[in-house]
Amino acid sequence: MTSIAFIGLGNMGGGMAANLAKAGHDVRAYDLSEAALDRARTAGCLAALSVEEAVAGAEAIVTMLPAGTHVDQVWRDQLIPLATPGTLLMDCSTIDVATARAVAEAAATRGLLAVDAPVSGGIAAANAGTLTFMVGGTDAAFARAEPILSAMGKSVIHAGAVGAGQAAKICNNMILGATMAATCEAFVLAEKLELDAGRFFDIASVSSGQSWSMTSYCPVPGVGPETPADRDYQGGFAAQLMLKDLKLAMDAADGAGAATPMGKRAAELYQRFVDDGNGTLDFSGLIRMLAKD
Ligand code: NAD
Repeated sequence: MTSIAFIGLGNMGGGMAANLAKAGHDVRAYDLSEAALDRARTAGCLAALSVEEAVAGAEAIVTMLPAGTHVDQVWRDQLIPLATPGTLLMDCSTIDVATARAVAEAAATRGLLAVDAPVSGGIAAANAGTLTFMVGGTDAAFARAEPILSAMGKSVIHAGAVGAGQAAKICNNMILGATMAATCEAFVLAEKLELDAGRFFDIASVSSGQSWSMTSYCPVPGVGPETPADRDYQGGFAAQLMLKDLKLAMDAADGAGAATPMGKRAAELYQRFVDDGNGTLDFSGLIRMLAKD
């Protein structure tokens, strides 16, 4: 049993903190939202009234916050000054590589261990404890993080040094955004060519057009396994979060001088989809926009 502070109990963090408590850890949870704190209390966490209260005596701290600015502020202004040397800090939010490295370095100067550990899998996986964690940090930090993260996920992979977890996350999601866009446009073209969507799915799923977007997350209602397409694109992975991840990938590509023309085009398409008022729809709903173009 580890004493763990958990900061950020939103759509993802709420379920993750609950799974840590279910695994027998002593979880002291904090969020700016009262409703989120109430849910955490019901799930077996101790609802802290401040970050100070959550962090006092914690052996490990998890953050699950919206974006890099929140992580930078919470780590620098609160967690790093408050945590006892030797405490392990794990940020599971999706943020830019530069901020992940900078806050981990700031933590190291105070004798704290730090990893970036972003996740693959959405709200359902966070609730079910079946997330995939991509972890950046030293071998020593990973060794301490792994058993804690395992209580919230089905796989925990050491990606490399600090920042490598975020690098893996944005590269993975750039593939996802581009393959989903390509899968959507293939179904739109197939329909215009009078090819049955179900037949095309059966063929592409066992041919070289196969990808996770095709086989496991088909954007066409009634085709393949059940997906958000069968629920009018409600739930699932919001288009605005896909756009966020594609923007992080594009900023990283600019900074690193990497050519990412497919990622760039996918970002443009998702920007238009979100600007049209579809930000909260599942990202596979892009097929509707392409079908109308
Ligand atoms: P969310 O907005 O639902 O939750 C964020 C929580 O952080 C909120 O409850 C908010 O009140 C809290 N918060 C913000 N600032 C705070 C502060 N200073 N102190 C304490 N609490 C604070 O977001 P989410 O959907 O849970 O996503 C969290 C992270 O996970 C994001 O980086 C997102 O990109 C990533 N992610 C989300 C999904 C998904 O499907 N939702 C999937 C993978 C990764």
